[in-house]
Amino acid sequence: MSDAQAPHYRVAVRALCDFTAREGDLDHRFTPSPSAREGIEGHALVAGRRADDYETELPLSGRYEGLVVSGRADGYDPARNRLEEIKTHRGDLSRMAANQRALHWAQVKVYGALLCAERGLDDVTLALVYLDIATQRETLLTQAATATELNAFFAAQCRRFLDWAEQERCHRERRDRWLAALHFPHAEFRSGQRELAESVYKAAATGRCLLAQAPTGIGKTMATLFPTLKAMPRQRIDRVAFLTMKTPGRRLALDALAQLELAEPCEEGEFGRPALRVLELVARSKACEYPDKACHGDACPLAAGFYDRLPAARQAAVARGWLDREALREVALEHDICPYYLGQELARWSDVCVGDVNHYFDSSALLHGLAQANGWRLALLVDEAHNLVDRARGMYSAELDQRAFSRLHRSAPAPLVKPMGRLVRQWQGLVREQRESGAAKAESSDYGVLAALPQRLVAALNQAAVAITDYLAEHPGGADAALQERLFEALAFIRLAETFGDHSLCDLSQPGRGQAVLGLRNLVPADFLAPRFAQAHSTVLFSATLSPPRYYRDLLGLPSDCVWQTVTTPFRAEQLEVRIPGGISTRLRDREASLDPIVAELADQYRRQPGPYLAFFSSFAYLERVLARLAERQPDVPTWAQTRGMSEAERDAFLARFRPGGRGIGFAVLGGAFGEGVDLPGDRLIGAFIATLGLPPFDPFNEALKARLETRFGCGDAYAYRIPGLIKVVQAAGRVIRDPQDRGTLVLLDDRFRRPDVRRLLPGWWRVD
Ligand code: SF4
Repeated sequence: MSDAQAPHYRVAVRALCDFTAREGDLDHRFTPSPSAREGIEGHALVAGRRADDYETELPLSGRYEGLVVSGRADGYDPARNRLEEIKTHRGDLSRMAANQRALHWAQVKVYGALLCAERGLDDVTLALVYLDIATQRETLLTQAATATELNAFFAAQCRRFLDWAEQERCHRERRDRWLAALHFPHAEFRSGQRELAESVYKAAATGRCLLAQAPTGIGKTMATLFPTLKAMPRQRIDRVAFLTMKTPGRRLALDALAQLELAEPCEEGEFGRPALRVLELVARSKACEYPDKACHGDACPLAAGFYDRLPAARQAAVARGWLDREALREVALEHDICPYYLGQELARWSDVCVGDVNHYFDSSALLHGLAQANGWRLALLVDEAHNLVDRARGMYSAELDQRAFSRLHRSAPAPLVKPMGRLVRQWQGLVREQRESGAAKAESSDYGVLAALPQRLVAALNQAAVAITDYLAEHPGGADAALQERLFEALAFIRLAETFGDHSLCDLSQPGRGQAVLGLRNLVPADFLAPRFAQAHSTVLFSATLSPPRYYRDLLGLPSDCVWQTVTTPFRAEQLEVRIPGGISTRLRDREASLDPIVAELADQYRRQPGPYLAFFSSFAYLERVLARLAERQPDVPTWAQTRGMSEAERDAFLARFRPGGRGIGFAVLGGAFGEGVDLPGDRLIGAFIATLGLPPFDPFNEALKARLETRFGCGDAYAYRIPGLIKVVQAAGRVIRDPQDRGTLVLLDDRFRRPDVRRLLPGWWRVD
């Protein structure tokens, strides 16, 4: 191994081998792989079977020219002089694709070279230890290798990577020079924008977490992106992840990045190549070119030969630099490879990734995995962060539908009949137990929170999942979609069952015979998210509604030194007339009596000042009743309404009626498609009515949530009902005033808005008449 010459480039053993030793088809048939926990436990199990002097997690590193290669080998047995790479798996090992096996050998050979060099060994036995998670049986593949052979192999891998490494090093230098010179792309900051930008810079500079509540219209996207990018060179930040809740948020971030690119010309001699590599991460369902095919070379033409064509595609993609969804697709199709998996590859080499929050916070999130594997200093920006509690709860929840598994049992191929039958019987047993215990307690037996996980059912589910995995691996061509879907549901459930704790509950709903749904529902995402925040170099969570901060700290698991900032609003009280008419209660028991007074308020306000209004209700049922009453009593008031499951075109048509000079009232549900993220500036919207406090329904689930949050944080009612409700109210009300020139009216339709505990949760700049 030659000695290093500065400057050098660092690469993990795994990343090096992923780059140099992959060839052939992309093949996801051998998945699903064991969970991370199964992997860790599997490694511990193998290590536990070895002698006392067995060394685990061996840190190794070495150099080749300008390259520093490092990583941790799984285990070394000094007595046998055997270096082991442990891989956990499910199903028949002989079905593992040859290129996957070759990759594993490449990894252990590189570790072998590093070990021989470090310890002065002349030779070593290399071993791949495959541990079957289901049977706990080890399959050992070994080969003897001399230090000379391994060193030659290592050098060959490094040589294949060196040009790329050099290109990456130059890119990084050029990127950092460009960022250091980067200027704010507008002549001046908007009111509040500088304040936010300064705090974001501080968070990135000190590696802290910032929870920033900042009003609409101040340019939050630019106020977070610009300072984070400016901090990149000094703080040696490797990557920025701009994470959004919905697709339009991605567009805003990409637009802001495009403005920055335009504002700062690139250095000469770079042929107009952008200095910053930007990647838009898109869901597989949106990026896939062959949605009816499976992701392996026998089924999908874009998976066949994927790794053979990847190097050229990767090179073309990084040369392009700007890779939004369309650009990425273009590059991928020019090289006949899958755009989705090309995007996954490019996440390794992009400076800024713009994508959904699940790309970092989900249990198997790509960006989190890459940051961990490569030791990245990653700066996170999370837009519309008030939604993260609910989104994260969804990420760590799973459901099983009895009907779907019963159907599968009836149509199951022969090898699956037995395990599926066992599972179906466990389902029936659980349903019977619950019905009996519900009846015994004289409670509704349609829904119940289980005292513990139904272990027998989970065990049967595990066996069924293994059987389906084996079957799918043996019949890759004939894999039917329902079978795969059930398998993925089963695995998601099993993984969450492994980490079941007081952050979640297990419930069973039985709307009808044979229609039970078993749920694992996360209540406190903090337990899953805290390590994610801890791993990031810095995090900025921003939104117009992040009060009270303690709610987010507790439920998201933010670090104890997380800074909360509320940016001074540019809006003035006189811009928004806020009224709470007396005598209206929207409590469930008062709904019927509330219809006439609400209709009167809507009509009076509309006649006093005709124009476009939004009226929000807690549910479609309530919305429809008020709408019918208004049509009956005040037929001349124009109305239009949100309906369940609107298509994109229907949503656009709903919004198109909000136009300058337009008139009428658009009815919508709180927390729905029009309750946030909708921008209707000026007289496209002159007022809003909000009926109810947006409280979630008082049902057994929410009552269980409240009890759990009370036990854990002492704030059950506020955390389960009041705060989530008021967040929806404030978001909906935020549609009215979009900039410092806007004026409008907000009518809060419920007496409870006058209560001090509720008023405290409304924006301080509102003056309530
Ligand atoms: S195009 Fe679709 S089916 Fe083909 S590899 Fe990509 S994601 Fe899989």
